[in-house]
Parts: sequence; structure tokens; C-alpha cells
Amino acid sequence: MLANHLSSGSRPGWRCTTAAFCAAVLAAMLAAFPVQAATVNVYSARQEALIKPLLDEFTASSGIEVNLVTGAGDALLARLINEGRNSPADVLLTVDAGRLFRAREAGVLQPVESTYLEQVVPANLRDSEGYWFGLSVRARVIAYARQRVDAAQLSTYAALADPRWRGRICIRSSGNIYNQSLVAGMLATEGPANTAQWLAGLVANLARPPQGGDRDQIKAVAAGQCDVAVVNSYYYGAMLQSDDAAEREAAGAVAVFFPNQDDRGTHINISGAGVTAAAGNKQAAIALIEYLARPEAQSWYAERNNEYPVRKDVAPGALLESWGDFKADSLNVTELGRLNAQAVMAMDRANWK
Ligand code: FE
Repeated sequence: MLANHLSSGSRPGWRCTTAAFCAAVLAAMLAAFPVQAATVNVYSARQEALIKPLLDEFTASSGIEVNLVTGAGDALLARLINEGRNSPADVLLTVDAGRLFRAREAGVLQPVESTYLEQVVPANLRDSEGYWFGLSVRARVIAYARQRVDAAQLSTYAALADPRWRGRICIRSSGNIYNQSLVAGMLATEGPANTAQWLAGLVANLARPPQGGDRDQIKAVAAGQCDVAVVNSYYYGAMLQSDDAAEREAAGAVAVFFPNQDDRGTHINISGAGVTAAAGNKQAAIALIEYLARPEAQSWYAERNNEYPVRKDVAPGALLESWGDFKADSLNVTELGRLNAQAVMAMDRANWK
């Protein structure tokens, strides 16, 4: 086809007359203008082990190479903002809708149209204009001491402000986006006045000044420093399956409870991805995100991360299934980003360190 095209060129100098000569011309042209193999550069807040095998499968099935840069969520976003138009990144893969919202606000993502993603990712778990798409779901659950707490005493996030929990609650700092999103969700569903009241009661009930990550809250419950903690579900799953015997033991002393089952549902959040504003290879970037939303990828990605698939037609892994079904808050997670600043102010006012 290409040889025919060349041989039909109007200028005699471009005409190749024998197959061997045509091949030589073609080879020379390819050497002068190498065809760029499709490559997609990913900035990922997910650790390499939790995403790399899936990216390798994508490469095997699509022929598109993937370069993976991993880092902490806030650091990667700062890097993307610093690099601006010169960023080599095509895809940002990160956690928490609050952070994806920030990325859009900072101008480092671009809108994409994908009928496939619009079909399989529920509308409340993606940006309405295609700047980012949820890929997995995590629930912010109450972890409680099996020995000291009767699950019948647990009900809602709001009820954690009850004086019965005085000195018995552990939770990480207000600087953490998971808590900011939790509070933003409360603002959206229960209003500013109820949220302020709740925050005051919650802070009054803390067993210790906020410190450490979600795993540390579970360990503190196991160690008897507090009786309940608010944590992301996948940390509990990861600790149950940990290589570290102490983590397995701590998780074993704890059970999880899904709050607000009789009303709005448990607060959920997402990991997700968007195409960067600077993407040099937009089509490959979209292809990768679509791949991550396919049923097989969803199943693997969710199970490997102890999360729930974003797709309703893909079942969670056996471990999460063993915790039972739960009702998730149907709030559009974009609200968690939109109300972030208001949430941070409310937490400051309540003196949540
Ligand atoms: Fe996390």
C-alpha cells in the first residue's frame, strides 16, 4: 500500500521501480522518521505492586507501553502542578475524590469523552464532565474492639458524638483528606449546624490527640487505647492478610461496622484516574483508563487493594464479601471536593488537631 503510494508519486525522483528499491526507500524513510511506539506515562499514588501487573496486562493486550511513576498523592499532584504544560504525565491515578477534585481545579486534568466509562462507572463516582473517573470504592467504617464493644451500640457517624463514647474514640488528624471528605459528606447530607455539633462531640470523645494513619487507629483499638476508630475499609483487609503477625493479630481483635445503614448509607470514597491536561498521548491515556474499568481489571484491582469494584456488575473479592453487603451513601463524590474547604474550616473550629 505504502509502496504503491510511493510509486505513484508525481515527481520522477520519488518513483521506485523495483520491489527491492521500494523497500530500501521505505526503510530509509522509517529511519529518518521513526514511528513513535505508543507509550502512556502514569503518575500513580498507588504503590507499584498494587497496579503494575495490571499495567503489564494492558501493554500485552494493547501494545501500548506504560511508564509508571509512583509517589504520595499530594506530592504527585504538586509535581503535576509544577510541571504544568511540560509534564510528561498522561494519566493521574490517585485516591480520594477530594484530591481528584483538587487536580481538576488546579487545571492539570482535561475532560475526555468515553461512552464506555460513562456506561460502566456510576454517575456519582465520576466527574460529570469527564475530568476523572472512579475505579474502586472504599468505605470509611467504624472499627471496634470485639471484646469491649457490642455492635448493637453502634449506629451512625453522628452517634459517635454521644457521651457514651467519652475517651473511647481514635481517629487520625484533620489534615488527612479521608477525614476531610468524611466531614464534607456530613456537611452535604446533614447540614452545617448538625456537622458542627457532631464535630464538637466527636473531638470531646477522643481517647488521644489524633496521630498516625488508619492502621495505627486499628492497632490502638486492639491495644486497648480506644474502643472504636474510624478507618478506611481496605486497611482492615490489608491487616487481616498482612505478612506481619502483629498486624494480623491486631486486626483479629477488631471488627468493622458499616454506619448509617438505616438512613443515608456509609460514607464511601474512590480511587480514580484522569487524563492530564499536558497528555501527549490522549488516546492511549483513555485506552488505559477504559482498560482499568473492564470487568477483569476491576475484579483484580479491587481485590488486590481490598477495595470494592466501582462497577455494580463485578463482585467484590471473597474477603470483602465475608463482611456482608452494605448500603453506600449515594452522594455524588464531587461534593466531597466541592465542600473540602468548608470541611477543613469546620474541623479547625472544632479544634480537631
Ligand atoms: Fe489510604
